[in-house]
Amino acid sequence: MTPKRRVGLFGGTFDPPHLGHLIAAETVCETLGLDEVLWIPAGSPPHRAAGPCASAPVRLRMVATAIQGNPAFRIWAGETEREGPSYTIDTVRTLRAQGYAEDSLSLIVGADQFQVFSTWKEHGTLRELVRLAVVSRDGEGGPPEAGEAGIDPVPIPRIDISSSDIRRRRRERRSIRYLVPEGVHRIVEDEDLYV
Ligand code: ATP
Ligand code: MG
Repeated sequence: MTPKRRVGLFGGTFDPPHLGHLIAAETVCETLGLDEVLWIPAGSPPHRAAGPCASAPVRLRMVATAIQGNPAFRIWAGETEREGPSYTIDTVRTLRAQGYAEDSLSLIVGADQFQVFSTWKEHGTLRELVRLAVVSRDGEGGPPEAGEAGIDPVPIPRIDISSSDIRRRRRERRSIRYLVPEGVHRIVEDEDLYV
């Protein structure tokens, strides 16, 4: 029997994707020896108000550009094909029905999200379906104890870049060069995003 493939699930708004995302995903991939990391852009809420600033198609293009050239990174558009935010349990069920049934799935979550994990929809079932790769930047409180069943703590380097800071810089007409890959930079400028 061939060994199970190990697949990481990396969800986010990716509005826009930046080097912090790429370094985090690469570190998890290397640390856990994953065969693949699926980047899963979140769906857009039906009303723009508190939702992402860039449309789903543009965020998909930016993620595709950002991960280009890394053979272990793939994009999965399933959450953007429906309006509104998706529950992780539904995404995992969809993936398992779409060819990932035989794989070991590792959900990549921040230490902060891990602390409120018990509020997630069907969290008990979710824990039976996926492992949790809990990433924490050094100094960040509350990473899980090593050795807890189904949980892989992954220390990652502290890269102080966020999408909200990038959007703020754009509003203030400041540079975002080198915070995002060159191809993402080009899309942000061509589409006049976040200004
Ligand atoms: P925003 O500032 O709008 O919240 P963000 O930069 O946090 O955006 P998201 O798309 O919300 O980006 O993040 C997706 C995932 O990547 C989340 O789990 C988030 O914790 C993680 N992440 C974001 N920025 C970093 C970073 N600099 N280093 C490590 N992980 C990050
Ligand atoms: Mg965030």
